[in-house]
Amino acid sequence: MGDTEFSKFADALSMYFKDGLSPEEFTRALLKSICLSSAQGVDILINDLEPRTLKGYRYGDHDITKIAEKISGSLDLGRFSNFVHLDEDAEDSINSLCNKFRTWCPDISPDTYETEIAERFQKIIENAAKPKRKKKLPVVDTTESSELKISSLKNKYGVLLVAEEGSICPNDECSKLLFINENGHLGLNYDVATIDPLLPDTDPNNLIALCPECCARYKLSRNDASIAHMKEIKRSLLENNDDRELLSEQKVQDGVRKVLEKIPKFPRPMNVDLNYDPVPVREKIKPENVSLYLKVQVQVNVYFPAVHETLQEMGREHIIRFKPFCDQVKLTYSNLSEQGYGQPKIYRLMTDWLASSTNGDRDSCEIIISYFIQKCEVFDVITK
Ligand SMILES: [Zn+2]
Repeated sequence: MGDTEFSKFADALSMYFKDGLSPEEFTRALLKSICLSSAQGVDILINDLEPRTLKGYRYGDHDITKIAEKISGSLDLGRFSNFVHLDEDAEDSINSLCNKFRTWCPDISPDTYETEIAERFQKIIENAAKPKRKKKLPVVDTTESSELKISSLKNKYGVLLVAEEGSICPNDECSKLLFINENGHLGLNYDVATIDPLLPDTDPNNLIALCPECCARYKLSRNDASIAHMKEIKRSLLENNDDRELLSEQKVQDGVRKVLEKIPKFPRPMNVDLNYDPVPVREKIKPENVSLYLKVQVQVNVYFPAVHETLQEMGREHIIRFKPFCDQVKLTYSNLSEQGYGQPKIYRLMTDWLASSTNGDRDSCEIIISYFIQKCEVFDVITK
Protein backbone atom coordinates (compact mmCIF):
# COMPACT_ATOMS: atom_id res chain seq x y z
CA MET A 1 0.00 0.00 0.00
CA GLY A 2 1.39 3.35 -1.03
CA ASP A 3 0.48 6.95 -0.44
CA THR A 4 -0.84 9.19 -3.16
CA GLU A 5 -2.15 12.70 -2.80
CA PHE A 6 -5.58 11.33 -3.47
CA SER A 7 -5.36 8.48 -0.95
CA LYS A 8 -4.29 10.92 1.75
CA PHE A 9 -7.11 13.26 0.80
CA ALA A 10 -9.68 10.45 0.92
CA ASP A 11 -8.24 9.31 4.22
CA ALA A 12 -8.68 12.72 5.78
CA LEU A 13 -12.32 12.95 4.65
CA SER A 14 -13.33 9.37 5.29
CA MET A 15 -14.07 9.78 8.99
CA TYR A 16 -16.55 12.60 8.40
CA PHE A 17 -18.27 11.70 5.14
CA LYS A 18 -17.94 7.97 4.61
CA ASP A 19 -21.42 7.51 6.02
CA GLY A 20 -21.50 3.71 5.95
CA LEU A 21 -20.18 3.41 2.39
CA SER A 22 -17.59 0.80 1.45
CA PRO A 23 -14.13 2.20 0.63
CA GLU A 24 -14.89 1.65 -3.08
CA GLU A 25 -18.25 3.41 -3.00
CA PHE A 26 -16.90 6.25 -0.88
CA THR A 27 -14.21 6.79 -3.53
CA ARG A 28 -16.84 6.76 -6.25
CA ALA A 29 -18.90 9.30 -4.30
CA LEU A 30 -15.89 11.62 -3.95
CA LEU A 31 -15.17 11.51 -7.66
CA LYS A 32 -18.81 12.04 -8.63
CA SER A 33 -19.23 14.94 -6.26
CA ILE A 34 -16.47 16.99 -7.81
CA CYS A 35 -17.85 16.63 -11.34
CA LEU A 36 -20.54 18.74 -13.03
CA SER A 37 -23.83 16.94 -12.71
CA SER A 38 -24.56 17.96 -16.29
CA ALA A 39 -21.50 16.11 -17.61
CA GLN A 40 -23.26 12.85 -18.33
CA GLY A 41 -20.35 11.16 -20.06
CA VAL A 42 -18.21 11.65 -16.99
CA ASP A 43 -20.97 10.38 -14.75
CA ILE A 44 -21.23 7.16 -16.75
CA LEU A 45 -17.45 6.79 -16.69
CA ILE A 46 -17.32 7.04 -12.91
CA ASN A 47 -20.25 4.66 -12.54
CA ASP A 48 -18.38 2.14 -14.68
CA LEU A 49 -15.20 2.17 -12.57
CA GLU A 50 -14.42 -1.29 -11.24
CA PRO A 51 -14.47 -1.75 -7.44
CA ARG A 52 -10.91 -3.05 -7.73
CA THR A 53 -9.79 0.18 -9.40
CA LEU A 54 -11.61 2.32 -6.87
CA LYS A 55 -10.03 0.43 -4.01
CA GLY A 56 -6.63 0.96 -5.61
CA TYR A 57 -7.26 4.70 -5.75
CA ARG A 58 -8.52 4.77 -2.18
CA TYR A 59 -5.48 3.02 -0.72
CA GLY A 60 -2.88 4.53 -2.99
CA ASP A 61 -2.03 1.30 -4.78
CA HIS A 62 -2.49 3.14 -8.04
CA ASP A 63 -2.62 6.79 -8.83
CA ILE A 64 -5.67 8.48 -10.25
CA THR A 65 -4.00 9.72 -13.45
CA LYS A 66 -6.35 7.96 -15.89
CA ILE A 67 -9.63 9.08 -14.38
CA ALA A 68 -8.17 12.53 -13.58
CA GLU A 69 -7.35 13.05 -17.26
CA LYS A 70 -10.95 12.32 -18.17
CA ILE A 71 -12.71 14.43 -15.55
CA SER A 72 -10.35 17.37 -15.14
CA GLY A 73 -12.29 19.41 -17.72
CA SER A 74 -15.62 18.92 -15.97
CA LEU A 75 -15.02 19.92 -12.37
CA ASP A 76 -17.65 21.61 -10.19
CA LEU A 77 -16.14 23.03 -7.00
CA GLY A 78 -19.51 24.27 -5.75
CA ARG A 79 -20.92 20.78 -5.86
CA PHE A 80 -18.00 19.38 -3.90
CA SER A 81 -18.26 22.20 -1.34
CA ASN A 82 -21.81 21.05 -0.65
CA PHE A 83 -20.59 17.47 -0.35
CA VAL A 84 -18.18 18.40 2.44
CA HIS A 85 -20.57 20.70 4.27
CA LEU A 86 -21.12 19.75 7.91
CA ASP A 87 -24.00 20.91 10.12
CA GLU A 88 -23.25 24.32 11.65
CA ASP A 89 -23.71 22.95 15.17
CA ALA A 90 -21.13 20.17 14.64
CA GLU A 91 -18.48 22.63 15.77
CA ASP A 92 -16.04 20.00 17.05
CA SER A 93 -16.13 18.04 13.83
CA ILE A 94 -15.60 21.18 11.76
CA ASN A 95 -12.59 22.15 13.87
CA SER A 96 -11.00 18.73 13.70
CA LEU A 97 -11.62 18.58 9.94
CA CYS A 98 -9.86 21.95 9.59
CA ASN A 99 -6.93 20.62 11.61
CA LYS A 100 -6.68 17.58 9.35
CA PHE A 101 -6.39 19.79 6.28
CA ARG A 102 -4.15 22.49 7.66
CA THR A 103 -0.98 20.92 6.17
CA TRP A 104 -2.40 21.28 2.68
CA CYS A 105 -4.56 24.37 3.24
CA PRO A 106 -2.78 26.65 5.73
CA ASP A 107 -5.60 29.24 5.64
CA ILE A 108 -8.43 26.83 6.33
CA SER A 109 -11.03 28.00 8.88
CA PRO A 110 -14.58 26.99 9.89
CA ASP A 111 -15.82 29.75 7.55
CA THR A 112 -13.91 28.61 4.48
CA TYR A 113 -13.32 24.92 4.90
CA GLU A 114 -15.77 23.75 2.20
CA THR A 115 -14.16 25.78 -0.57
CA GLU A 116 -10.63 25.12 0.69
CA ILE A 117 -11.19 21.37 0.59
CA ALA A 118 -12.86 21.55 -2.83
CA GLU A 119 -9.92 23.56 -4.16
CA ARG A 120 -7.51 21.03 -2.70
CA PHE A 121 -9.32 18.24 -4.54
CA GLN A 122 -9.24 20.24 -7.76
CA LYS A 123 -5.49 20.64 -7.39
CA ILE A 124 -4.98 16.92 -6.81
CA ILE A 125 -6.95 16.09 -9.95
CA GLU A 126 -5.12 18.66 -12.03
CA ASN A 127 -1.73 17.47 -10.77
CA ALA A 128 -2.60 13.89 -11.60
CA ALA A 129 -3.87 14.83 -15.06
CA LYS A 130 -0.80 16.90 -15.91
CA PRO A 131 1.39 15.18 -18.48
CA LYS A 132 4.47 14.00 -16.65
CA ARG A 133 7.76 12.48 -17.51
CA LYS A 134 7.91 8.82 -16.67
CA LYS A 135 9.62 8.37 -13.35
CA LYS A 136 11.77 5.31 -13.11
CA LEU A 137 10.50 3.20 -10.27
CA PRO A 138 12.71 0.83 -8.36
CA VAL A 139 11.42 -2.61 -9.26
CA VAL A 140 12.51 -6.17 -8.73
CA ASP A 141 15.39 -6.71 -11.11
CA THR A 142 14.33 -9.18 -13.73
CA THR A 143 14.90 -7.31 -16.96
CA GLU A 144 17.85 -7.91 -19.19
CA SER A 145 19.31 -4.45 -18.69
CA SER A 146 19.30 -4.81 -14.91
CA GLU A 147 21.04 -8.19 -15.29
CA LEU A 148 23.73 -6.35 -17.21
CA LYS A 149 23.90 -3.71 -14.54
CA ILE A 150 24.29 -6.30 -11.79
CA SER A 151 27.06 -8.04 -13.72
CA SER A 152 28.94 -4.76 -14.08
CA LEU A 153 28.49 -4.10 -10.35
CA LYS A 154 29.85 -7.58 -9.77
CA ASN A 155 32.89 -6.79 -11.89
CA LYS A 156 33.43 -3.54 -10.08
CA TYR A 157 32.78 -4.48 -6.46
CA GLY A 158 32.52 -8.27 -6.35
CA VAL A 159 35.99 -9.05 -5.11
CA LEU A 160 35.85 -6.27 -2.54
CA LEU A 161 32.53 -7.58 -1.22
CA VAL A 162 33.68 -11.19 -1.11
CA ALA A 163 36.82 -10.15 0.78
CA GLU A 164 34.78 -8.09 3.19
CA GLU A 165 32.74 -11.20 3.94
CA GLY A 166 35.73 -13.47 4.37
CA SER A 167 34.55 -15.50 1.33
CA ILE A 168 31.57 -16.86 3.23
CA CYS A 169 27.90 -16.22 2.46
CA PRO A 170 26.91 -13.87 5.30
CA ASN A 171 23.21 -14.72 5.16
CA ASP A 172 21.65 -16.24 8.29
CA GLU A 173 22.59 -19.85 8.85
CA CYS A 174 24.06 -20.22 5.38
CA SER A 175 27.86 -19.90 5.60
CA LYS A 176 28.39 -21.47 2.15
CA LEU A 177 31.75 -20.67 0.60
CA LEU A 178 31.59 -18.04 -2.10
CA PHE A 179 34.00 -20.00 -4.27
CA ILE A 180 34.13 -23.54 -5.52
CA ASN A 181 37.08 -25.83 -5.80
CA GLU A 182 36.86 -27.71 -9.08
CA ASN A 183 39.76 -30.18 -9.43
CA GLY A 184 42.15 -27.79 -7.77
CA HIS A 185 40.89 -24.75 -9.69
CA LEU A 186 39.28 -22.13 -7.52
CA GLY A 187 36.34 -20.28 -9.03
CA LEU A 188 34.23 -17.60 -7.41
CA ASN A 189 30.60 -18.57 -6.95
CA TYR A 190 28.39 -15.71 -5.80
CA ASP A 191 25.91 -13.08 -6.90
CA VAL A 192 25.59 -9.46 -5.89
CA ALA A 193 22.31 -8.09 -4.54
CA THR A 194 21.25 -4.51 -3.95
CA ILE A 195 20.30 -4.41 -0.27
CA ASP A 196 17.77 -1.59 -0.43
CA PRO A 197 16.40 -0.93 -3.95
CA LEU A 198 15.40 2.59 -2.91
CA LEU A 199 19.04 3.52 -2.28
CA PRO A 200 21.67 3.91 -4.99
CA ASP A 201 23.10 0.61 -6.22
CA THR A 202 26.38 2.27 -7.10
CA ASP A 203 27.28 2.47 -3.42
CA PRO A 204 29.17 -0.64 -2.27
CA ASN A 205 27.65 -0.10 1.19
CA ASN A 206 24.28 -0.91 -0.37
CA LEU A 207 25.57 -4.07 -2.06
CA ILE A 208 26.11 -7.50 -0.64
CA ALA A 209 27.65 -10.65 -2.11
CA LEU A 210 25.63 -13.77 -1.37
CA CYS A 211 25.76 -17.37 -2.53
CA PRO A 212 23.60 -17.73 -5.66
CA GLU A 213 20.70 -19.40 -3.80
CA CYS A 214 20.53 -16.82 -1.01
CA CYS A 215 20.85 -14.05 -3.58
CA ALA A 216 17.95 -15.32 -5.70
CA ARG A 217 15.80 -15.85 -2.62
CA TYR A 218 16.59 -12.40 -1.24
CA LYS A 219 15.79 -10.64 -4.52
CA LEU A 220 12.45 -12.41 -4.81
CA SER A 221 11.29 -11.93 -1.25
CA ARG A 222 12.67 -8.47 -0.54
CA ASN A 223 10.34 -6.65 1.88
CA ASP A 224 10.76 -4.06 4.62
CA ALA A 225 11.70 -6.64 7.25
CA SER A 226 14.17 -8.57 5.09
CA ILE A 227 15.77 -5.33 3.87
CA ALA A 228 16.22 -4.12 7.45
CA HIS A 229 17.73 -7.45 8.42
CA MET A 230 20.13 -7.49 5.47
CA LYS A 231 21.21 -3.95 6.41
CA GLU A 232 21.98 -5.25 9.88
CA ILE A 233 24.11 -8.09 8.42
CA LYS A 234 25.97 -5.58 6.24
CA ARG A 235 26.52 -3.23 9.16
CA SER A 236 28.19 -5.91 11.22
CA LEU A 237 30.37 -6.97 8.25
CA LEU A 238 31.57 -3.41 7.86
CA GLU A 239 32.23 -3.13 11.56
CA ASN A 240 34.33 -6.32 11.62
CA ASN A 241 36.22 -5.05 8.64
CA ASP A 242 36.96 -1.73 10.30
CA ASP A 243 38.30 -3.62 13.33
CA ARG A 244 40.60 -5.68 11.16
CA GLU A 245 41.89 -2.58 9.39
CA LEU A 246 42.37 -0.74 12.64
CA LEU A 247 44.40 -3.59 14.09
CA SER A 248 46.45 -4.44 11.02
CA GLU A 249 47.89 -0.91 11.10
CA GLN A 250 49.64 -1.86 14.33
CA LYS A 251 52.53 -4.11 13.37
CA VAL A 252 54.26 -5.67 16.32
CA GLN A 253 58.02 -5.87 16.75
CA ASP A 254 59.55 -9.26 15.99
CA GLY A 255 60.92 -9.54 19.52
CA VAL A 256 57.44 -9.84 21.00
CA ARG A 257 57.08 -13.18 19.30
CA LYS A 258 60.11 -14.39 21.27
CA VAL A 259 58.41 -13.32 24.50
CA LEU A 260 55.31 -15.25 23.53
CA GLU A 261 57.33 -18.34 22.76
CA LYS A 262 58.78 -18.30 26.25
CA ILE A 263 55.46 -18.18 28.09
CA PRO A 264 54.46 -21.86 27.74
CA LYS A 265 57.93 -22.79 28.96
CA PHE A 266 57.70 -20.82 32.19
CA PRO A 267 58.29 -23.10 35.16
CA ARG A 268 55.16 -23.74 37.13
CA PRO A 269 55.13 -21.03 39.78
CA MET A 270 55.07 -22.17 43.39
CA ASN A 271 52.97 -20.77 46.25
CA VAL A 272 50.73 -18.64 44.10
CA ASP A 273 47.68 -17.33 45.91
CA LEU A 274 45.00 -17.70 43.28
CA ASN A 275 42.54 -15.79 45.42
CA TYR A 276 44.75 -12.76 45.56
CA ASP A 277 42.77 -9.83 44.20
CA PRO A 278 45.15 -7.54 42.31
CA VAL A 279 44.05 -3.96 42.84
CA PRO A 280 44.39 -2.72 39.24
CA VAL A 281 42.37 -5.66 37.92
CA ARG A 282 39.61 -5.09 40.46
CA GLU A 283 39.58 -1.39 39.76
CA LYS A 284 39.47 -1.78 36.03
CA ILE A 285 37.29 -4.71 35.07
CA LYS A 286 33.63 -3.86 35.38
CA PRO A 287 31.69 -5.98 37.89
CA GLU A 288 29.34 -7.32 35.18
CA ASN A 289 32.28 -8.95 33.31
CA VAL A 290 32.71 -11.73 35.84
CA SER A 291 34.25 -14.35 33.60
CA LEU A 292 36.75 -11.91 32.13
CA TYR A 293 37.62 -10.81 35.65
CA LEU A 294 38.28 -14.36 36.83
CA LYS A 295 40.41 -15.17 33.81
CA VAL A 296 42.54 -12.04 34.11
CA GLN A 297 42.85 -12.44 37.86
CA VAL A 298 44.30 -15.95 37.51
CA GLN A 299 46.60 -14.98 34.64
CA VAL A 300 47.93 -12.01 36.57
CA ASN A 301 48.44 -14.01 39.76
CA VAL A 302 50.24 -16.82 38.00
CA TYR A 303 52.18 -15.07 35.28
CA PHE A 304 52.65 -11.37 36.02
CA PRO A 305 56.08 -11.60 37.70
CA ALA A 306 57.52 -13.97 35.07
CA VAL A 307 56.18 -11.99 32.13
CA HIS A 308 57.46 -8.78 33.65
CA GLU A 309 60.88 -10.29 34.22
CA THR A 310 61.06 -11.62 30.65
CA LEU A 311 60.05 -8.32 29.09
CA GLN A 312 62.63 -6.41 31.14
CA GLU A 313 65.35 -8.89 30.34
CA MET A 314 64.64 -8.89 26.62
CA GLY A 315 64.61 -5.13 26.70
CA ARG A 316 68.06 -5.12 28.27
CA GLU A 317 69.27 -7.55 25.62
CA HIS A 318 67.79 -5.30 22.89
CA ILE A 319 65.56 -8.09 21.65
CA ILE A 320 62.55 -5.89 22.14
CA ARG A 321 62.04 -2.21 22.76
CA PHE A 322 59.86 -2.33 25.83
CA LYS A 323 58.57 1.26 25.94
CA PRO A 324 57.38 1.40 22.30
CA PHE A 325 55.64 -1.95 22.80
CA CYS A 326 53.78 -0.57 25.86
CA ASP A 327 52.78 2.50 23.85
CA GLN A 328 51.57 0.33 21.03
CA VAL A 329 49.40 -1.76 23.34
CA LYS A 330 48.03 1.42 24.84
CA LEU A 331 47.24 2.88 21.41
CA THR A 332 45.57 -0.30 20.23
CA TYR A 333 43.48 -0.29 23.38
CA SER A 334 42.39 3.31 22.99
CA ASN A 335 41.53 2.77 19.31
CA LEU A 336 39.21 -0.08 20.29
CA SER A 337 37.84 1.74 23.28
CA GLU A 338 36.86 4.65 21.04
CA GLN A 339 34.64 2.27 19.11
CA GLY A 340 32.56 1.97 22.26
CA TYR A 341 33.13 -1.77 22.65
CA GLY A 342 32.68 -3.60 25.94
CA GLN A 343 35.66 -4.99 27.86
CA PRO A 344 35.24 -8.66 26.82
CA LYS A 345 35.20 -7.66 23.16
CA ILE A 346 38.23 -5.40 23.55
CA TYR A 347 40.09 -8.19 25.33
CA ARG A 348 39.22 -10.66 22.57
CA LEU A 349 40.17 -8.23 19.76
CA MET A 350 43.47 -7.34 21.42
CA THR A 351 44.29 -11.01 21.75
CA ASP A 352 43.37 -11.50 18.06
CA TRP A 353 45.60 -8.61 17.12
CA LEU A 354 48.60 -9.92 19.03
CA ALA A 355 48.06 -13.50 17.84
CA SER A 356 47.70 -12.58 14.17
CA SER A 357 50.59 -10.15 14.09
CA THR A 358 53.01 -12.55 15.79
CA ASN A 359 51.56 -15.91 14.72
CA GLY A 360 51.65 -16.52 18.44
CA ASP A 361 49.58 -18.92 20.42
CA ARG A 362 46.34 -17.40 21.74
CA ASP A 363 46.76 -18.48 25.35
CA SER A 364 50.13 -16.77 25.54
CA CYS A 365 48.71 -13.67 23.88
CA GLU A 366 45.92 -13.55 26.49
CA ILE A 367 48.53 -13.69 29.21
CA ILE A 368 50.34 -10.71 27.70
CA ILE A 369 47.12 -8.70 27.43
CA SER A 370 46.28 -9.53 31.04
CA TYR A 371 49.77 -8.39 32.00
CA PHE A 372 49.04 -5.04 30.40
CA ILE A 373 45.72 -4.75 32.20
CA GLN A 374 47.55 -5.10 35.48
CA LYS A 375 50.22 -2.73 34.25
CA CYS A 376 47.51 -0.21 33.38
CA GLU A 377 48.01 0.08 29.63
CA VAL A 378 44.69 -1.66 29.03
CA PHE A 379 41.30 -0.59 30.43
CA ASP A 380 40.66 2.55 32.40
CA VAL A 381 39.91 2.67 36.08
CA ILE A 382 36.15 2.42 36.53
CA THR A 383 34.68 5.74 37.50
CA LYS A 384 32.26 5.45 40.35
ZN1 LIG B 1 23.92 -18.29 1.19
